[in-house]
Amino acid sequence: MAIAAVRDAARICRSVQAGITPESLAKKDRSPVTVADFGSQAVVCRVIGQSFPHDPIIAEEDSSALQTEENAPFLHRIHDEICRECVQASKDEICRWIDLGGAADYSHRFWTLDPIDGTKGFLRGEQYAISLALILEGQIEIGVLGCPNLPPAPGADAGSLFYAVRGKGAWLQPLDGPGAPVQIHVSKTADPALARFCESVESGHSAHDTSAEIARTLGLTAPPVRMDSQAKYGVVARGEADAYLRLPTRADYSEQIWDHAGGVLVVEEAGGRVTDVAGLPLDFTHGRQLKANRGVIVTNGVLHEAILAAVKEAGVK
Ligand code: AMP
Ligand code: MG
Repeated sequence: MAIAAVRDAARICRSVQAGITPESLAKKDRSPVTVADFGSQAVVCRVIGQSFPHDPIIAEEDSSALQTEENAPFLHRIHDEICRECVQASKDEICRWIDLGGAADYSHRFWTLDPIDGTKGFLRGEQYAISLALILEGQIEIGVLGCPNLPPAPGADAGSLFYAVRGKGAWLQPLDGPGAPVQIHVSKTADPALARFCESVESGHSAHDTSAEIARTLGLTAPPVRMDSQAKYGVVARGEADAYLRLPTRADYSEQIWDHAGGVLVVEEAGGRVTDVAGLPLDFTHGRQLKANRGVIVTNGVLHEAILAAVKEAGVK
């Protein structure tokens, strides 16, 4: 069900991304993100709402902005995309689905959704992800990441679907078509000097200068792989990178739960480890944000303590 929901959302995102023109990019027109973001949230929440009508969903968007006169053209385009790619529905129904994602408070069982994670990557035609997770008693039980622009294997067509169920491993399959899932595992790299790490493209989302300092401390020479979205979790889970550093850029920023929940379980079930910069586990019991945590450090597990020590030495708080 969660996988089918993410696949529906990916169809909408791809269709909208395919319509981005160099002219709209030059104008810094963000309307494709708006259309795909709301469209993705609508179709995922629809599927969850049908299967589990009582489950709260903490998702990034709400439909109030869409229902204004000036935003009517957006709702119109979202409606067109959903009817063409997924299912016939009225605009009212679509807004109702979007608002199923309006939960804000922690509860003992809820879903969290990022309908398009990595909006900047989406606009650039690069990486983005649809991330969905089920959280029970504060523990992530299911994590699904759809990465429409990430090939599942070198040379394969783009489109990867990562998923994990607590205790059942992490799996990767082509986002489209019938390809069978394969179990994935983190790397075995144990020497920090040989590690390859990834981080955000956007220096406003993760401190690049500090990660460079940490790399020097570790004797790590490979340049960072910069990539948007939770595709970074997928890349660590399948052993292509050994770590993903997300270092705070601002004292007042709390990470959003939907930017992490799906990816965290995929990495943990692949054998990796995820904490904040102080080494604390991510705490999903504070509503929309990771209020008890700062930054995020994701590794193959073996490297975790060495990287945390270097993070501490760099004075990251
Ligand atoms: P990424 O694609 O990994 O750079 O992350 C994209 C996410 O960064 C977005 O979904 C935002 O929620 C989040 N974000 C926005 N501002 C910040 C910030 N100052 N620090 C960390 N993450 C941020
Ligand atoms: Mg996001």
